Amino acid sequence: MKLLLGTRNRGKIRELLALLRDLPVELLTVDDVPFSDVPETGRTFRENALLKARAISRETGLPVLAEDSGLEVEALGGAPGVYSARFAGEGATDEENVRKLLELLRDIPEGQRGARFVCAAVVRFPDGTELAAEGELRGRIAFEPRGAHGFGYDPVFIPEGFSRTLGELGRSVKDEISHRRRALEALKARMRGYLRRSP
Ligand code: IMP
Repeated sequence: MKLLLGTRNRGKIRELLALLRDLPVELLTVDDVPFSDVPETGRTFRENALLKARAISRETGLPVLAEDSGLEVEALGGAPGVYSARFAGEGATDEENVRKLLELLRDIPEGQRGARFVCAAVVRFPDGTELAAEGELRGRIAFEPRGAHGFGYDPVFIPEGFSRTLGELGRSVKDEISHRRRALEALKARMRGYLRRSP
């Protein structure tokens, strides 16, 4: 069975390909099967993941795995949340988003910089079956960016139990503990059940 990754984000594509390696499916990306952009108009990560999986599956006729993810910061009442990718405005770069976040948190002390990454992952099959799962990674926001690994807010996110940012910790640690890893492990278990029932 083929499975198309419903994202154009290069950082996510890299991580998803690694995390899904052990599934008995042929993984395809936007480079193999082009698809249109899907507006993320949902109010939750899960709604947005569903919107993307449904639209891209309808357009391509393929099973599609889509995810929506973002950062929720306690001191900002859960912002940027579903607006994480465009926090500093439509088309903002990762650096601009990080700069805005650090500015807003400038006067927030160490003990009050709690945050979490959330990932909602969804797979939709052409027969209409939809499977979903979520994962989170708790941590706190650093005072300045550190490290060049990863993407998005990785250089300012310090996972619980660590003193370095995801940007410093790098791929192998992130792939072990990330919100995306946790969501996909749960989703993969459900997908294996589905694949066994309809080979
Ligand atoms: P979307 O899911 O395409 O709407 O974008 C999610 C946005 O959340 C990304 O552009 C990043 O800014 C942020 N984000 C999601 N997951 C991660 C991650 O693993 N590391 C750093 N930033 C992330």
